[in-house]
Amino acid sequence: MTDVCILGGGLVGGVLGIALAKQGLVVTIVDRENRETMLNPKIDGRTTAINLASKIIFDELGLWDEITPHAEPILDIKVFEGGSPWSIHFDHQMMGQDPMGYIVENRFIRQAIIQQTLSLSNITWYDETSLLTKKITPSGVEIFLDNGQEIKASLLVGAEGRSSPTREEAGIKSYQFSYDQKGLVFSVYHEKPHNGVAWEAFHPSGPMAFLPIQDCPTSGRHRSGVVWTLPVEQGDFWFSQENTLIAAKLRELFGFLGEFEIAGQKWIYPLNAQMVDRFIEERLVIVGDAAHVCHPVAGQGVNVGWRDAAILAKHLQHAKNLGVDLGASSILKEYQKARRFDTWSIFAMTDGMVRLFSNNSSILHFLRNAGLGTVNRIPTLKRFFMRRAMGFS
Ligand SMILES: Cc1cc2nc3c(=O)[nH]c(=O)nc-3n(C[C@H](O)[C@H](O)[C@H](O)COP(=O)(O)OP(=O)(O)OC[C@H]3O[C@@H](n4cnc5c(N)ncnc54)[C@H](O)[C@@H]3O)c2cc1C
Repeated sequence: MTDVCILGGGLVGGVLGIALAKQGLVVTIVDRENRETMLNPKIDGRTTAINLASKIIFDELGLWDEITPHAEPILDIKVFEGGSPWSIHFDHQMMGQDPMGYIVENRFIRQAIIQQTLSLSNITWYDETSLLTKKITPSGVEIFLDNGQEIKASLLVGAEGRSSPTREEAGIKSYQFSYDQKGLVFSVYHEKPHNGVAWEAFHPSGPMAFLPIQDCPTSGRHRSGVVWTLPVEQGDFWFSQENTLIAAKLRELFGFLGEFEIAGQKWIYPLNAQMVDRFIEERLVIVGDAAHVCHPVAGQGVNVGWRDAAILAKHLQHAKNLGVDLGASSILKEYQKARRFDTWSIFAMTDGMVRLFSNNSSILHFLRNAGLGTVNRIPTLKRFFMRRAMGFS
């Protein structure tokens, strides 16, 4: 008998598994991918912004020590609109000594999570495995896997990402919001140091983010991760271009880091947002991208998922202490209530940012500039936005 069975051992499912196992629960993680491949991925140039609230979660779970050698602190965030004199400068010192967050290559986060799950004897990990079917009984949920295993659990968690089959099968309705945009993702070497600055440059075609990565450990060259949001056709066009042409275009649009050179692989993703009408069903919770997907403009997506994991773990700990069934609907409803505001507010904030900035309207251009200038001059407003970016509501 396992306490909690998590379908999907990705960035969110893995962290949830660790949080629950550290509380003494017996956990099974099921992922369709090969675990060795997940542990030793190729260098692929993708990065994630880990905000300060998530760093604190990682610290509590003993994950941060593994990640910190690869983490570049975000000391400042600078936001501007291409061609406009107005900008906002968020300086971490307005909030204290800690950086606002860290940029880490995805492979290092994944390795830290999987290695930690391997060290915990109360986690069983089935890789290259998926759910076949499940049956709810009065005392739990019976889970039948395609590797022939049958598991009895108190609670099932769907953490299989945005296309979660568990969510679909449970009849939890998800609403899709398309931006008609694609995100072109890659790393670049650049001439000048980034000095810990994350840049968000808004152009009418869409935002372009430069996220500071640690200098290359072998060559010492300066590096940043780029997330370049473009209308679908332009995204496909630039994805198909030679790296030298892309580097020249970046130089034309963004003048603060000198000359660019594309480092490694490029990725392209259709960008859409997704929200569900509820996070729970009988003996089931969905977390992470299975429950909510937001535009990557503010680098918040997986951070919201890690807060799902931390808060679900807290509710289940409470249930365990009280001797209450972990799958009891009262516990799941409390969890859902605790997650509604945070998930919706991040969703609304990122959606609003993209719609406000991704167009050519002269009225909106005026309002944007007035807004940037105003926020930059009012410290209370600035602190409000900084707290949200750092993951605190
Ligand atoms: C361009 C781009 C840039 C981004 N940048 C950032 C950023 O800087 N900061 C940030 O916070 N977020 C960012 N995000 C969002 C972030 O990538 C996601 O929020 C995050 O990956 C969600 O994690 P997850 O564990 O919920 O899902 P996933 O990462 O999708 O993991 C799902 C896991 O489930 C497994 N799985 C899938 N189907 C099954 C199945 N049927 N059975 C078993 N296992 C299954 C998969 O193998 C995988 O391991 C970005 C997203 C995009 C598109």
